[in-house]
Amino acid sequence: MKAQPAPDETARIVVLGRQGSGKGTQAARLAAIYGVAHVSTGDAFRAAAGSGSELGRTLKSYMDRGELVPDDVVVGVIREHLFGPDAPAGFILDGFPRNVGQAEALAEMAGKRGLDIVVDLEADTQEVLHRMAGRRVCTKCGANYNVVDNPTKVSGQCDACSGPLAQRDDDTEDAIRRRLEIYETTTAPLIDWYRDRGLLAAVDAMGDVATVTARVVAAVEGVRQAKTIG
Ligand code: ADP
Ligand code: ZN
Repeated sequence: MKAQPAPDETARIVVLGRQGSGKGTQAARLAAIYGVAHVSTGDAFRAAAGSGSELGRTLKSYMDRGELVPDDVVVGVIREHLFGPDAPAGFILDGFPRNVGQAEALAEMAGKRGLDIVVDLEADTQEVLHRMAGRRVCTKCGANYNVVDNPTKVSGQCDACSGPLAQRDDDTEDAIRRRLEIYETTTAPLIDWYRDRGLLAAVDAMGDVATVTARVVAAVEGVRQAKTIG
């Protein structure tokens, strides 16, 4: 068995990947392994949408159509959570940045310390469509499952909190198509942007959850070793 890497509460990792690539699942696992906060803009917006506030209703209207939430709103949320007075030293970012403007804002907020690594999870279209069709989310705690690849012990019930599972409101055919389209035109250019800055690690995201986690951890550890030596 491979040794688990040492926790590192200062790790700063961004996870990129198309809808259905396993981004949320892998980000949660990385957060547990390294002992840092898992920050998912999608989860944060879904929680706000569920609160029924004015802002929540606005966010929900973007999400249900599969459109991006405006940059100033998203950047404001990240600034408050990750770079405010009680900001954690490290984080796993999932769902942010999603366009070059957001990446520039993040680089500015992250300052000289910057980021450690940007992981891009690569999965083919047939696979991501299949995964999204089976995707279920806990309506209480937000944990992700898949009826085929990652089922709960009791059908329809969250393993972590026993909350009821549901399909996401934006996992409709139209919203999925729109999100994948926006990913190609708006988010995919980030891969080159981060590669140019020497931060990108492409990881094969085909395979079961644990296999992909092992590949991601190997990529992260590779970068950390290079930094210690260099
Ligand atoms: P997915 O990766 O399947 O699209 P997420 O849970 O990451 O799901 O995001 C759900 C929705 O939340 C997006 O479709 C978008 O409306 C909104 N959202 C999340 N992150 C961002 C972001 N960085 N910029 C703009 N909108 C965002
Ligand atoms: Zn739950």
